[in-house]
Amino acid sequence: MRLTYMSFPTTRLRRLRQNEQLRSLVRETRLSLEAFVYPLFVCPGEGVRKEVRSMPGVFNFSIDEAMKEAREAHSLGVPAAILFGLPETKDEMATGAWSDDGIVQQAARAIKREIPELVVVGDVCLCEYTSHGHCGIVRSTGPQSLGAAVAHPPSSTGEYEIVNDATLELLARTAVSLARAGVDMVAPSDMMDGRVAAIRKALDEAGLTNIPILSYAAKFASGFYGPFREAADSVPQFGDRRSYQMDGANLREAMREIELDIEEGADIIMVKPAMPYLDAKLLPAMAGSIASG
Ligand SMILES: [Zn+2]
Repeated sequence: MRLTYMSFPTTRLRRLRQNEQLRSLVRETRLSLEAFVYPLFVCPGEGVRKEVRSMPGVFNFSIDEAMKEAREAHSLGVPAAILFGLPETKDEMATGAWSDDGIVQQAARAIKREIPELVVVGDVCLCEYTSHGHCGIVRSTGPQSLGAAVAHPPSSTGEYEIVNDATLELLARTAVSLARAGVDMVAPSDMMDGRVAAIRKALDEAGLTNIPILSYAAKFASGFYGPFREAADSVPQFGDRRSYQMDGANLREAMREIELDIEEGADIIMVKPAMPYLDAKLLPAMAGSIASG
């Protein structure tokens, strides 16, 4: 059916804007408590509440303090939390991400034991757990070793590579480990190609077919992540993330990322950073894609 719109003066869009009651009645986008997900940054220790310098009021919590915070958020009606981890030690294989006694695995077990109705989402990425702070396995392609690269940052990005396919295995292992620890949903934020399919396959093979995947489908390389990286202690020690996160100029490519993730089995897709990119161009494109898909 094709709608024909009347034009001015029959149509006056300002009629529905004349007071707050009418504006509220026809508001298309609403922020409501039911949709909030509270990010918690969990660190080792006991009784730790360490404020993040760049985000006053946001803290790194030890598990006992994270529990208090989760309890309070839940009592206020926040239905979900997403967990990020600051491990005791970091290495080149991001062991802390996928080990069953990893910091997020421990926190998830503790929270789900006490507050089973709180939806717990587990961030799936390696950057919080790798010694170099990248979201994937790094291979040195230049003259210096990776250890030396951390100490003396390479001058050009041609001297190292973030290895895609080997990273997928660790991401899948991380997702399974988190789901076994009790998270209700996994959220890959790394931007490796093929990670959603790899994670879906690993979860299904582990009998975890009911764990949804919230994919950071179009994640643009951005300076907006600075404070968040401080909170998650995941600043890359050399180079930047532009060989895996997206170029902010590319909306068509963002659509391909989103379509691919949906095809690979993503249950929810995310665009990040939201505010500068969920703009008038991307939203209709997303709606069209999902409707036609
Ligand atoms: Zn990452």
